Amino acid sequence: MSPTVKNQPTRRSPAPAKEVPAKEAPAQIGNAQIEDNRVLPALSAAQRKRFAKAVLSWFDDFGRKNLPWQQDASPYRVWISEIMLQQTQVTTVIPYYQRFMQSFPTVAVLAKASQDDVLDHWTGLGYYARGRNLHNSAQVIVEQYGGELPTTVDELERLPGIGRSTAGAIVSLGVGNWAPILDGNVKRVLCRHYTVDGWYGQTAVQKQLWQLSEQLTPANRAGNFNQAMMDVGATVCTRSNPNCSACPVSKTCRALARGKPTDWPHRKPSKEKPKRQCWMLVAIDKSSGEVLLEKRPQTGIWGGLWSLPQYDSVGELGDAANLLDGNVVPLEKLGPIEHTFTHFHLTIHPLIARISRQSRDAIMDTEQLVWYKHGDTPGGFAAPVAKLLDKLMQSLV
Ligand code: SF4
Repeated sequence: MSPTVKNQPTRRSPAPAKEVPAKEAPAQIGNAQIEDNRVLPALSAAQRKRFAKAVLSWFDDFGRKNLPWQQDASPYRVWISEIMLQQTQVTTVIPYYQRFMQSFPTVAVLAKASQDDVLDHWTGLGYYARGRNLHNSAQVIVEQYGGELPTTVDELERLPGIGRSTAGAIVSLGVGNWAPILDGNVKRVLCRHYTVDGWYGQTAVQKQLWQLSEQLTPANRAGNFNQAMMDVGATVCTRSNPNCSACPVSKTCRALARGKPTDWPHRKPSKEKPKRQCWMLVAIDKSSGEVLLEKRPQTGIWGGLWSLPQYDSVGELGDAANLLDGNVVPLEKLGPIEHTFTHFHLTIHPLIARISRQSRDAIMDTEQLVWYKHGDTPGGFAAPVAKLLDKLMQSLV
C-alpha cells in the first residue's frame, strides 16, 4: 500500500484569495523587492504554483513517508496521530500510537472502552484532555455518524478536541480531499517565508496565515503538500537553526532575503505589567550614620528580608518620621529606584529623615527593627534596598 494518500478529485476548492485594501504597493515575493507586509497581498497564480511545485518536488525526494500513521492512511489513523502529535515530538509519539492502535483499532472499539483504559494508554504523553476528548469524540462519531469519521472540516471541527488544522489534516491526509492546515511547523515556515509580523497567536496574524495556507495549498496532492509543509517545518525550517540551503522555497523566502530567518515568527508579546509605587523611609541617626531597617512580613514580596520602612504615600512616611524623632523632620529626596517583579513594576521613592541621637536611642533593636551600621549583616536584604544602602553608606563613610 502506498504510504501517501490517494489524490482524489477535489471536493472543496481553495477559497478565493481575499482582496485586502493595500495601503502600499503589493510586496514582491522574491529576493529583489522586500517591502512592508502589514497587509498581505493575494498571491498570483504563478506564485502559488511555483511554491506548491517546489514543496511537492521536495516531498517526493525528502518528505516523510514511513511514519506508522501514513501506512494504510485513514481518517481514524490520521486523527489519532494528529491529536498525539499536538505538543509532542514524532519520536515520542510512535510507540504510544502503535500501542493505542493495537488496543483501539477502530472508532467503535475506542468508543466502547472505558475512559480509564484510554487514559492508561495516554500515561506519559501528557495533556490528558487530549485523551478524554478523543474518547468523547469517538462516542459522538458512533452515535451520530455510524462509527465513521465525518469527512468535512466543518463537521470534524464540531467534535471535541478537533480544531481547524487537525480537521484539515484529517481531510487532506486521511480522506484525500483538499483542505489547508496550519500547525506550529507550517506557521513557522509561512511566517518566515512571508515575513508575517506579529505574534501568531493574535487573531489578525492567524487570519493572515490561514489566508496564505488556503492560497498555497494546491488543488491536487493537498495531502502530500500538507505533509511536506509539516516536514519542512520540523526538519528544515527549525525553530532556532533553519537549514535554508536545504529548503525548497529558499529562493522566494523573505526572511532569508533579509538575512534574519530566526527573527520570525515574532515572540508572544509580554503582557504590560502594572506599575506600583511606594515610599521608603531612610531614617539616619545624625551622629552615628546608622540606618533604621525593618523586617518584612514572612508572606508577600521580600518575605522575611530586611528592608527600609515602607509606606503607601509621602504623607504617611512624613508622619512616621516625625513620630520617630518627636519633631517635624525635614525630608531629603533621593532618586527613585525602579524594580521589576514577575507581575509588576515597582517605583521606590526613598526619602531621608535625619534623626536625633536621643530619638535613635529610644528605638531599641528588636526582631523586627535594627539600626544598621555599614558592614553589618543582620540577614538577607531586599535587592534594591541592598543597592541603596550600599550607595548611601559609601557616601556617609
Ligand atoms: S529559506 Fe530558511 S527561513 Fe525561509 S522558509 Fe526555508 S528554511 Fe525557513
